[in-house]
Parts: sequence; structure tokens; C-alpha cells
Amino acid sequence: MRVRTRRGAAYARYVPHHTHRLELDDQTLREWDATVLHVTDGSGTDGERGVVLDRSAFYPGGGGQPPDHGVLLWGGVQTRIVGVRKGDDLVLVPHDDDPLPPLGTAVRGAVEDERRSMLMRTHSGLHLLSGVVFRDYGAMVTGGNMEPGTARMDFNMETVPPDFKSTVEAACNVEVEADRRIEVSMLPRAEAFAIPDIIRTATNLVPPEVEVVRIVDILGLDTQADAGTHVASTRQIGRLEVAKIENKGRGFRRVRLRVADA
Ligand SMILES: [Zn+2]
Repeated sequence: MRVRTRRGAAYARYVPHHTHRLELDDQTLREWDATVLHVTDGSGTDGERGVVLDRSAFYPGGGGQPPDHGVLLWGGVQTRIVGVRKGDDLVLVPHDDDPLPPLGTAVRGAVEDERRSMLMRTHSGLHLLSGVVFRDYGAMVTGGNMEPGTARMDFNMETVPPDFKSTVEAACNVEVEADRRIEVSMLPRAEAFAIPDIIRTATNLVPPEVEVVRIVDILGLDTQADAGTHVASTRQIGRLEVAKIENKGRGFRRVRLRVADA
């Protein structure tokens, strides 16, 4: 009896498609040219549709910042992008009603500016808040999440002074007005973890295989290992409002933040 042999190609280990992440280097980029590396049309076992590009500025989500929305334009056709799936590949998720660009298509990618810009202001606002609360109260961040313009951040704080809400809001807006620069840099792991702020905020969040760490630094106020997108200085955040302080249990305080215009 003839034994069927496995054919190499069919059983080869899956090799992920490499997408160059443009937004990690240039957070102001909103439009770029790209080529389609991989398409899934929904006929697979998972039924998912998706597009993988060689270059993408769509923030895929992570660190509390939700994914970007936008479009791919190709040959007079528009494919709306409503999310990103992160697995082996960085898969852009198209709107259910929109056609998919075939493999190899040259596309123009565009990130929806209003949503992304507000998420950048909101994300930078959260870092500013964490810097202020650590500096003034010594409290550590235990969690956080954001939508465009609103966010929450959780702190490990045993007691909260009665004027905490108004005092923190005022201190945050002093730092907005100070227009501190927000710098992004890439550091070798060992160098990054020599920075006390990085040890405090990120030791358990950066996987051991990560050799180069992206650092987001609000100069003189807050330094974190972070993959998110940020504005270039604190004044660009806009005015911050502390909407609410919630007591979620022993030593667990939740600060709800809102980004206001001017
Ligand atoms: Zn962050």
C-alpha cells in the first residue's frame, strides 16, 4: 500500500506577513501608499475577512488605545476599515458591505483623522494624569482604558484627600499649559529598564522577547514604555476635566477623564 506523504508546501509552518508599522515612527501620518500582501475573503474556516498591507499606519489597538478607523482606496473603489486584528499578521478588518482589494493591489491607505487625533490627545492626557498623580500623591497606575475624548485610569491609593478631584484637575491643566514636549524614542531593553520610571510602570508589561522598547516621554513629568500614538506636546492635548473619582474598593480609585477643547 502506498503511503501518502505530506507535501512540504501544504504543511509548512505559517510564515507571517510583515507589515511595516508606519505609525510607530510618524504619529502625524494619515495617508500613504501600500501594496496588498494577503487577503482573506471570508471563505476560510473562521469566516473572517481581512487585508494585510506591506505598510500600514493603522494603530492596531493596545495599551488601552482602541484601533484606528479609515479607508483603503484602489481603482476608484473604497474599502472602509473598521478595526484591526492582531495575530501572526496585522489584519485590517473591512466593513461587511465593502469589496476587498485583490492580492498585489496598490492601495492608498488613509486613517480617519478626527478619531485618531482625539485618541492621541486622550492617550497623552492619560500619561499626563499618571505623571501628575504619581508626582503629587505617589500613587501607581493599575489599569486604564480610553475612547476618543474620554478615558479612565485606575490608581492604587489608600486614601483620597477631599479636594482630590479639583486639585488633580488643576495640576493637570498646569502641565497642559506648560506645553511640555512629548518625545518618542526606541531604546535597547537594558537601557530602557535602567530608567526608574520604566521600572515602575512597565516591568511586567513588556514581554521578555522584546529587545527594543518604545519609550514615550512627557519631558520632566512621565516616562513610559508604550506603543500608542501621542501628540507632540502637552498643550496639544487641550484642557483636561476630571469628570469623576470612583472608589472601587480598598485602595482602588478610578479617575474618569474628559478632554475638552481649549
Ligand atoms: Zn500609554
